Amino acid sequence: MEKKRDIVTMDHGGGGRAARDLIERCFLSRFDNPYLNRMDDSAVVTLGTDRLAITTDSYVVDPIFFPGGDIGSLAVHGTVNDLSVQGARPVFLSAAFILEEGFDLADLERVLDAMAESTRRAEVSIVAGDTKVVPRGRCDKVYINTTGVGLVEDGVHVSGSNAQINDRLILSGSAGDHGIAVLSQREGLRFDTELVSDSAPLNRLVGEILSGTPAVHAMRDPTRGGVAASLNEIANQSNVGIVIREAAIPVKEGVRSACEILGLDPLYVANEGKILVFVGPEDAPQVLETIRRNPLGREAQIIGEVVSTHPGQVVMKTMVGGTRIVDMPLGEQLPRIC
Ligand code: MG
Repeated sequence: MEKKRDIVTMDHGGGGRAARDLIERCFLSRFDNPYLNRMDDSAVVTLGTDRLAITTDSYVVDPIFFPGGDIGSLAVHGTVNDLSVQGARPVFLSAAFILEEGFDLADLERVLDAMAESTRRAEVSIVAGDTKVVPRGRCDKVYINTTGVGLVEDGVHVSGSNAQINDRLILSGSAGDHGIAVLSQREGLRFDTELVSDSAPLNRLVGEILSGTPAVHAMRDPTRGGVAASLNEIANQSNVGIVIREAAIPVKEGVRSACEILGLDPLYVANEGKILVFVGPEDAPQVLETIRRNPLGREAQIIGEVVSTHPGQVVMKTMVGGTRIVDMPLGEQLPRIC
Protein backbone atom coordinates (compact mmCIF):
# COMPACT_ATOMS: atom_id res chain seq x y z
CA MET A 1 0.00 0.00 0.00
CA GLU A 2 1.24 3.48 -0.83
CA LYS A 3 2.22 5.57 2.17
CA LYS A 4 -0.12 8.53 2.73
CA ARG A 5 1.68 11.75 1.88
CA ASP A 6 1.78 14.53 4.46
CA ILE A 7 0.19 17.70 3.16
CA VAL A 8 -0.43 21.23 4.43
CA THR A 9 -3.84 21.52 6.12
CA MET A 10 -5.88 24.53 7.26
CA ASP A 11 -4.90 23.63 10.84
CA HIS A 12 -1.29 24.51 9.98
CA GLY A 13 -2.40 28.15 9.53
CA GLY A 14 -4.14 28.50 12.88
CA GLY A 15 -1.41 29.77 15.16
CA GLY A 16 -1.93 26.77 17.45
CA ARG A 17 -0.18 23.46 18.04
CA ALA A 18 -0.37 22.34 14.41
CA ALA A 19 1.24 25.58 13.20
CA ARG A 20 3.94 25.23 15.84
CA ASP A 21 4.66 21.65 14.74
CA LEU A 22 4.94 22.71 11.09
CA ILE A 23 7.30 25.56 11.94
CA GLU A 24 9.53 23.33 14.04
CA ARG A 25 9.59 20.47 11.56
CA CYS A 26 10.04 22.38 8.31
CA PHE A 27 11.38 25.86 9.12
CA LEU A 28 13.31 26.04 12.40
CA SER A 29 15.20 22.86 11.53
CA ARG A 30 16.54 24.51 8.36
CA PHE A 31 16.92 28.18 9.31
CA ASP A 32 18.15 27.44 12.83
CA ASN A 33 19.68 30.51 14.56
CA PRO A 34 19.34 32.06 18.02
CA TYR A 35 17.20 35.00 16.84
CA LEU A 36 14.62 32.89 15.03
CA ASN A 37 14.64 30.16 17.67
CA ARG A 38 13.34 32.60 20.31
CA MET A 39 9.97 32.48 18.53
CA ASP A 40 9.03 35.97 19.71
CA ASP A 41 6.81 38.39 17.77
CA SER A 42 9.94 40.14 16.43
CA ALA A 43 13.61 39.22 16.32
CA VAL A 44 15.84 41.70 18.17
CA VAL A 45 19.28 42.08 16.54
CA THR A 46 22.20 44.39 17.28
CA LEU A 47 23.54 46.43 14.37
CA GLY A 48 26.38 48.78 15.29
CA THR A 49 25.21 50.36 18.52
CA ASP A 50 21.50 50.01 17.83
CA ARG A 51 19.15 47.21 18.77
CA LEU A 52 16.69 46.65 15.93
CA ALA A 53 13.49 44.61 16.00
CA ILE A 54 12.46 42.91 12.74
CA THR A 55 9.18 41.17 11.98
CA THR A 56 7.15 40.07 8.96
CA ASP A 57 3.56 38.98 8.43
CA SER A 58 1.22 38.16 5.56
CA TYR A 59 -2.44 39.12 5.42
CA VAL A 60 -5.07 37.06 3.63
CA VAL A 61 -8.21 38.17 5.50
CA ASP A 62 -11.54 37.37 3.85
CA PRO A 63 -13.50 39.58 3.28
CA ILE A 64 -10.98 42.35 2.57
CA PHE A 65 -13.38 44.98 3.99
CA PHE A 66 -14.99 44.33 7.38
CA PRO A 67 -16.56 46.46 10.16
CA GLY A 68 -13.76 48.43 11.81
CA GLY A 69 -11.11 47.83 9.16
CA ASP A 70 -9.82 46.23 5.98
CA ILE A 71 -6.83 44.20 4.78
CA GLY A 72 -4.70 47.33 4.22
CA SER A 73 -5.00 48.88 7.68
CA LEU A 74 -4.71 45.41 9.22
CA ALA A 75 -1.43 44.82 7.36
CA VAL A 76 -0.01 47.98 8.95
CA HIS A 77 -1.45 47.43 12.45
CA GLY A 78 -0.46 43.76 12.68
CA THR A 79 3.19 44.43 11.88
CA VAL A 80 3.37 47.63 13.95
CA ASN A 81 1.94 45.64 16.87
CA ASP A 82 4.39 42.76 16.53
CA LEU A 83 7.22 45.30 16.80
CA SER A 84 5.53 47.13 19.68
CA VAL A 85 5.02 44.06 21.86
CA GLN A 86 8.74 43.39 21.53
CA GLY A 87 9.30 46.75 23.21
CA ALA A 88 10.38 48.35 19.91
CA ARG A 89 9.39 51.70 18.41
CA PRO A 90 8.25 50.91 14.85
CA VAL A 91 9.96 53.08 12.23
CA PHE A 92 9.97 51.52 8.73
CA LEU A 93 7.74 49.07 6.87
CA SER A 94 7.92 47.31 3.54
CA ALA A 95 4.75 46.18 1.78
CA ALA A 96 4.38 43.48 -0.89
CA PHE A 97 1.14 42.81 -2.77
CA ILE A 98 -0.03 39.71 -4.59
CA LEU A 99 -2.92 40.78 -6.80
CA GLU A 100 -5.45 38.62 -8.62
CA GLU A 101 -6.12 39.38 -12.27
CA GLY A 102 -9.51 41.07 -12.45
CA PHE A 103 -9.34 42.67 -8.97
CA ASP A 104 -11.19 46.00 -9.00
CA LEU A 105 -8.71 48.92 -9.04
CA ALA A 106 -11.16 51.04 -7.02
CA ASP A 107 -11.02 48.40 -4.26
CA LEU A 108 -7.21 48.33 -4.46
CA GLU A 109 -7.10 52.11 -4.06
CA ARG A 110 -9.50 51.95 -1.12
CA VAL A 111 -7.19 49.41 0.54
CA LEU A 112 -4.13 51.59 -0.16
CA ASP A 113 -5.87 54.73 1.17
CA ALA A 114 -6.62 52.90 4.42
CA MET A 115 -3.06 51.65 4.57
CA ALA A 116 -1.64 55.15 4.07
CA GLU A 117 -3.94 56.53 6.78
CA SER A 118 -2.79 53.78 9.17
CA THR A 119 0.88 54.55 8.56
CA ARG A 120 0.21 58.21 9.42
CA ARG A 121 -1.62 57.23 12.60
CA ALA A 122 1.17 54.85 13.62
CA GLU A 123 3.90 57.29 12.52
CA VAL A 124 5.71 54.76 10.32
CA SER A 125 6.78 54.96 6.67
CA ILE A 126 6.48 52.34 3.95
CA VAL A 127 9.94 52.59 2.37
CA ALA A 128 10.00 49.54 0.07
CA GLY A 129 7.43 47.53 -1.79
CA ASP A 130 6.61 44.98 -4.45
CA THR A 131 3.64 44.02 -6.62
CA LYS A 132 2.95 40.71 -8.36
CA VAL A 133 -0.13 39.70 -10.35
CA VAL A 134 -1.33 36.09 -10.69
CA PRO A 135 -4.02 34.79 -13.09
CA ARG A 136 -7.67 34.96 -12.08
CA GLY A 137 -8.56 32.29 -9.51
CA ARG A 138 -4.94 31.65 -8.45
CA CYS A 139 -5.26 33.94 -5.41
CA ASP A 140 -8.25 35.72 -3.85
CA LYS A 141 -8.32 39.47 -4.74
CA VAL A 142 -5.28 40.64 -2.77
CA TYR A 143 -2.77 39.27 -0.27
CA ILE A 144 -0.38 41.65 1.49
CA ASN A 145 2.93 41.01 3.22
CA THR A 146 4.43 43.67 5.47
CA THR A 147 7.84 43.63 7.10
CA GLY A 148 8.62 46.02 9.92
CA VAL A 149 11.77 47.43 11.49
CA GLY A 150 11.84 49.20 14.85
CA LEU A 151 14.27 50.50 17.45
CA VAL A 152 14.55 49.04 20.95
CA GLU A 153 15.58 51.55 23.63
CA ASP A 154 18.34 50.76 26.14
CA GLY A 155 17.00 49.10 29.27
CA VAL A 156 14.03 47.48 27.52
CA HIS A 157 14.15 43.66 27.52
CA VAL A 158 10.71 42.37 26.66
CA SER A 159 10.37 38.75 25.60
CA GLY A 160 7.85 35.96 25.76
CA SER A 161 10.53 34.00 27.60
CA ASN A 162 10.87 36.65 30.33
CA ALA A 163 7.64 36.26 32.36
CA GLN A 164 8.47 35.97 36.09
CA ILE A 165 6.77 34.17 38.98
CA ASN A 166 4.27 36.55 40.67
CA ASP A 167 3.99 38.78 37.60
CA ARG A 168 0.55 40.29 37.16
CA LEU A 169 -1.10 39.77 33.82
CA ILE A 170 -2.94 42.73 32.30
CA LEU A 171 -5.28 42.50 29.28
CA SER A 172 -5.86 45.91 27.68
CA GLY A 173 -9.51 45.34 26.71
CA SER A 174 -12.26 43.03 25.52
CA ALA A 175 -11.41 39.66 23.96
CA GLY A 176 -12.49 38.34 20.56
CA ASP A 177 -13.72 41.52 18.83
CA HIS A 178 -11.73 41.16 15.59
CA GLY A 179 -12.40 37.50 14.83
CA ILE A 180 -16.13 37.79 15.47
CA ALA A 181 -16.44 40.98 13.37
CA VAL A 182 -14.68 39.37 10.37
CA LEU A 183 -16.56 36.09 10.70
CA SER A 184 -19.99 37.70 10.92
CA GLN A 185 -19.24 39.91 7.88
CA ARG A 186 -18.01 36.91 5.89
CA GLU A 187 -20.97 34.71 6.76
CA GLY A 188 -23.52 37.53 6.49
CA LEU A 189 -24.63 36.94 10.07
CA ARG A 190 -26.85 39.52 11.74
CA PHE A 191 -26.71 40.14 15.46
CA ASP A 192 -28.54 42.67 17.65
CA THR A 193 -25.38 44.62 18.45
CA GLU A 194 -22.95 45.74 15.79
CA LEU A 195 -19.70 43.78 15.95
CA VAL A 196 -16.65 45.89 15.10
CA SER A 197 -13.00 44.84 14.79
CA ASP A 198 -10.57 46.30 17.34
CA SER A 199 -7.84 46.60 14.65
CA ALA A 200 -5.56 49.46 15.81
CA PRO A 201 -1.86 50.36 16.15
CA LEU A 202 -0.60 49.75 19.69
CA ASN A 203 2.76 51.54 19.44
CA ARG A 204 1.67 54.70 21.23
CA LEU A 205 0.10 52.73 24.08
CA VAL A 206 3.21 50.57 24.42
CA GLY A 207 5.41 53.70 24.35
CA GLU A 208 3.40 55.13 27.26
CA ILE A 209 3.71 51.87 29.22
CA LEU A 210 7.49 51.59 28.68
CA SER A 211 8.26 55.24 29.40
CA GLY A 212 6.64 54.83 32.85
CA THR A 213 7.79 51.24 33.46
CA PRO A 214 10.73 50.07 31.31
CA ALA A 215 10.92 46.87 33.40
CA VAL A 216 7.94 45.19 31.68
CA HIS A 217 8.81 41.49 31.37
CA ALA A 218 6.68 40.19 28.52
CA MET A 219 4.03 41.46 26.12
CA ARG A 220 2.05 39.85 23.33
CA ASP A 221 -0.74 40.88 21.00
CA PRO A 222 -3.27 38.04 21.19
CA THR A 223 -4.05 37.65 17.47
CA ARG A 224 -4.61 34.21 15.88
CA GLY A 225 -5.66 31.69 18.51
CA GLY A 226 -6.67 34.58 20.79
CA VAL A 227 -5.72 35.14 24.42
CA ALA A 228 -5.57 31.36 24.99
CA ALA A 229 -2.84 30.78 22.37
CA SER A 230 -0.74 33.77 23.49
CA LEU A 231 -0.85 32.74 27.15
CA ASN A 232 0.11 29.17 26.29
CA GLU A 233 3.04 30.42 24.20
CA ILE A 234 4.34 32.55 27.06
CA ALA A 235 3.77 29.83 29.69
CA ASN A 236 5.88 27.57 27.49
CA GLN A 237 8.57 30.05 26.50
CA SER A 238 9.04 31.22 30.10
CA ASN A 239 8.41 27.77 31.62
CA VAL A 240 5.96 29.18 34.17
CA GLY A 241 2.34 28.53 35.13
CA ILE A 242 -0.37 31.08 34.45
CA VAL A 243 -3.64 31.43 36.37
CA ILE A 244 -6.43 33.60 34.94
CA ARG A 245 -9.85 34.51 36.33
CA GLU A 246 -12.72 34.15 33.88
CA ALA A 247 -14.75 36.84 35.66
CA ALA A 248 -11.97 39.40 35.12
CA ILE A 249 -11.70 38.91 31.35
CA PRO A 250 -13.63 41.63 29.52
CA VAL A 251 -15.83 40.33 26.69
CA LYS A 252 -18.34 42.57 24.92
CA GLU A 253 -21.95 41.45 25.28
CA GLY A 254 -22.39 41.20 21.48
CA VAL A 255 -19.24 39.10 21.13
CA ARG A 256 -20.30 36.85 24.00
CA SER A 257 -23.71 36.12 22.49
CA ALA A 258 -22.30 35.68 18.95
CA CYS A 259 -19.78 33.20 20.38
CA GLU A 260 -22.56 31.29 22.16
CA ILE A 261 -24.56 31.01 18.93
CA LEU A 262 -21.50 29.98 16.89
CA GLY A 263 -20.11 27.60 19.51
CA LEU A 264 -16.88 29.57 19.90
CA ASP A 265 -14.91 30.49 23.01
CA PRO A 266 -13.97 34.22 23.00
CA LEU A 267 -10.67 33.31 24.67
CA TYR A 268 -9.63 31.60 21.40
CA VAL A 269 -10.86 34.32 19.03
CA ALA A 270 -8.40 36.78 17.41
CA ASN A 271 -7.84 40.38 18.51
CA GLU A 272 -5.95 43.00 16.48
CA GLY A 273 -5.77 45.92 18.90
CA LYS A 274 -5.25 44.33 22.30
CA ILE A 275 -2.18 43.64 24.37
CA LEU A 276 -1.25 41.25 27.18
CA VAL A 277 1.33 42.68 29.59
CA PHE A 278 3.33 40.72 32.19
CA VAL A 279 4.77 42.99 34.87
CA GLY A 280 5.97 42.63 38.47
CA PRO A 281 3.31 43.08 41.22
CA GLU A 282 4.88 46.35 42.41
CA ASP A 283 4.62 47.91 38.93
CA ALA A 284 1.22 46.48 37.96
CA PRO A 285 -1.03 49.25 39.40
CA GLN A 286 0.87 51.98 37.54
CA VAL A 287 0.91 50.06 34.26
CA LEU A 288 -2.83 49.36 34.58
CA GLU A 289 -3.50 53.05 35.16
CA THR A 290 -1.33 54.04 32.17
CA ILE A 291 -3.16 51.60 29.90
CA ARG A 292 -6.59 52.78 31.07
CA ARG A 293 -5.70 56.41 30.31
CA ASN A 294 -5.18 55.50 26.62
CA PRO A 295 -8.38 55.33 24.52
CA LEU A 296 -7.36 51.82 23.35
CA GLY A 297 -7.11 50.55 26.93
CA ARG A 298 -10.08 51.94 28.83
CA GLU A 299 -11.40 48.46 29.71
CA ALA A 300 -8.04 47.05 30.80
CA GLN A 301 -8.08 44.54 33.64
CA ILE A 302 -5.63 42.48 35.65
CA ILE A 303 -6.83 39.06 34.56
CA GLY A 304 -4.39 36.78 36.35
CA GLU A 305 -0.86 36.08 37.50
CA VAL A 306 2.19 33.94 36.95
CA VAL A 307 2.72 31.01 39.35
CA SER A 308 5.47 28.47 40.03
CA THR A 309 3.09 25.50 39.97
CA HIS A 310 2.09 23.72 36.70
CA PRO A 311 4.88 25.23 34.49
CA GLY A 312 3.88 25.47 30.83
CA GLN A 313 0.19 25.34 31.68
CA VAL A 314 -2.60 27.93 31.72
CA VAL A 315 -5.38 27.37 34.26
CA MET A 316 -8.60 29.35 34.53
CA LYS A 317 -10.70 29.92 37.63
CA THR A 318 -14.20 29.80 36.16
CA MET A 319 -17.15 32.02 37.02
CA VAL A 320 -18.92 29.11 38.72
CA GLY A 321 -15.99 28.52 41.05
CA GLY A 322 -14.25 25.63 39.31
CA THR A 323 -10.90 25.45 37.53
CA ARG A 324 -10.11 24.25 34.04
CA ILE A 325 -7.05 23.97 31.86
CA VAL A 326 -6.93 26.47 28.98
CA ASP A 327 -5.24 24.39 26.28
CA MET A 328 -3.26 25.54 23.29
CA PRO A 329 -5.70 25.37 20.37
CA LEU A 330 -4.82 22.59 17.93
CA GLY A 331 -5.62 24.33 14.70
CA GLU A 332 -7.91 26.77 13.06
CA GLN A 333 -11.45 27.41 14.22
CA LEU A 334 -11.62 30.62 12.13
CA PRO A 335 -9.56 30.51 8.90
CA ARG A 336 -8.50 33.68 7.05
CA ILE A 337 -9.19 36.02 9.93
CA CYS A 338 -5.98 38.03 9.40
MG1 MG B 1 1.97 38.89 17.52
